[in-house]
Amino acid sequence: MDADIHKVMIIGSGPAGLTAAIYAGRAQNSPIVIEGPEPGGQLFSTTDIENFPGFPEGTRGPELMEKMRAQAVRFGARIVRGSVGKVDFVERPFRVWTADGELRRAHSVIIATGSSYKWLGLASEQSLRGHGVSACAVCDGPFFRGRPVVVVGGGDSALEEALFLHRLGSQVTIVHRRAQFRASKIMSDRVVDNPEIRIKWNCVVEEVFGDVGTTGVTGVRVRDVATGQEETLPCSGVFVAIGRNPNTSIFQGILDIDKNGYLVTEPGTTRTSVEGIFACGEVQDNTYRQAVTSAGSGAMAAMDARHWLEICGIF
Ligand code: NAP
Repeated sequence: MDADIHKVMIIGSGPAGLTAAIYAGRAQNSPIVIEGPEPGGQLFSTTDIENFPGFPEGTRGPELMEKMRAQAVRFGARIVRGSVGKVDFVERPFRVWTADGELRRAHSVIIATGSSYKWLGLASEQSLRGHGVSACAVCDGPFFRGRPVVVVGGGDSALEEALFLHRLGSQVTIVHRRAQFRASKIMSDRVVDNPEIRIKWNCVVEEVFGDVGTTGVTGVRVRDVATGQEETLPCSGVFVAIGRNPNTSIFQGILDIDKNGYLVTEPGTTRTSVEGIFACGEVQDNTYRQAVTSAGSGAMAAMDARHWLEICGIF
């Protein structure tokens, strides 16, 4: 076999990619993992994880990802820095170029590119990003200790951010567009039962106020969607936590993608529309989106890839 051709290439290093690497490594398929722009995936910027099995006291996102990474390396995975800029899956071996132009070839590819933050799409939000507007409380929350902040969204991410910021000592107001949270009951109860967290139900953020060069964020204008009434909430930070978009742009026109942008996999497998290319984790999952389900689908992808290599006579 051509030594330059990897048996299994994994794109992405969140729970899906690293679990695929652990399984592919143990199957002696010497996987190479291209880390991607967010090494460790979303969990690397997540605080407490209470629902990953095996941790009765809970664990921290970065710790869990360091352990998964070490476990993958222990079984022979090679993890390299960089992002993938272009792929060619028409012929085998498949070709993958990193953003800096380096070409790598592989007999099978596992896509675990995950998803990225969604933004509200306001001009003022974009211009104040990094100056008070953030999508990551773990990364930026400590700058706002003791100061008023607004968290936008009503899912588990938004409530997790709100609780984290509250623990840091910020005065938290959640702005949610409906009158009920989408988040799990346990998280909703924790927030609703906390008298120190203020909730603006049925409200949307229309504008972020502030100045990039001097004050940073100074407030937001919100509109009540039921009454149309507008109000300014003074704050120093705005944390946008309204979900994520799957990272599939480099696969447009190459693999089947559904109307929401997710890679299509054959039900019950990780097989994409091109034989030899597999997908796992949030890039193909618009339903469960949990670390443990991503890890599970990573294991499936490595097993599907191994089966594929056997069919191709590549051992
Ligand atoms: P999500 O569940 O899709 O929730 C997104 C929230 O943002 C929803 O409340 C939605 O409002 C709101 N939203 C979306 N677009 C908006 C817009 N343009 N303007 C204003 N609000 C907008 O996303 P997520 O919270 O990131 O969670 C994703 C998945 O990860 C979920 O399955 C969640 O359970 C999981 N997760 C789990 C944990 C944990 O277990 N520790 C932590 C974080 C995330 P509507 O409700 O009106 O649609």
